[in-house]
Amino acid sequence: MIIAIDGPAASGKGTLGKRLAAHYGYRHLDTGLIYRAVAKAMLDAGHALTDEARAIATATALDAGHLGDPALKTDAMGQAASVISAYPGVRAALFDFQRDFASHPPGAVLDGRDIGTVICPYAEVKIFVVASAEVRARRRALEIAGRGEPVDEAAVLDDIKKRDERDRNRSAAPLKAADDAHLLDTSALDIESAVRAAIDIVEAVRAGR
Ligand code: C5P
Repeated sequence: MIIAIDGPAASGKGTLGKRLAAHYGYRHLDTGLIYRAVAKAMLDAGHALTDEARAIATATALDAGHLGDPALKTDAMGQAASVISAYPGVRAALFDFQRDFASHPPGAVLDGRDIGTVICPYAEVKIFVVASAEVRARRRALEIAGRGEPVDEAAVLDDIKKRDERDRNRSAAPLKAADDAHLLDTSALDIESAVRAAIDIVEAVRAGR
């Protein structure tokens, strides 16, 4: 079974993806990390993010086996990823890796922006996770503060809104819910309640409800 989880920045889709994968014994791929890894490789090599040809070459050469670098998780890298992810050639270069990851039994959970619409339109379960921008900024700010780093919540909110705007309005695989996705609004839910709600969705689909 393939579970596709999409949603905007800091909606909680990564945590849900991880928890669902653990619950069902499936592998999990946070696809945002591969776009972040391309952005980081570009910046490390001193290339401008606006250099589309370089970004495509970098995505083509990416070793997606090394996605554990904590430097990929910063907000700056999220912004950088949202620039290079708008290039169709970058998305095309990363397509096979994601498809292949999803194809191995017994199942996989992939989270991102276009899993239910482009990467795995045939996924048995599609969940589109949403939460208000303010709630997402609050969660992200708490996460940053939890790491002992200084945080400006207004700046985090601004960052989230900018990224939403870019991800929703690009022409290549824009962020949007697949027609057959189940909407999960986590604005008023804590992590445990959101995980429970996501499992309920998967179980309802499995039971043919
Ligand atoms: O999910 P995450 O915040 O790690 O994603 C970083 C950026 O990578 C997103 O803002 C988006 O532009 C891009 N992305 C994408 N398609 C995906 C996953 C991430 O375009 N499947």
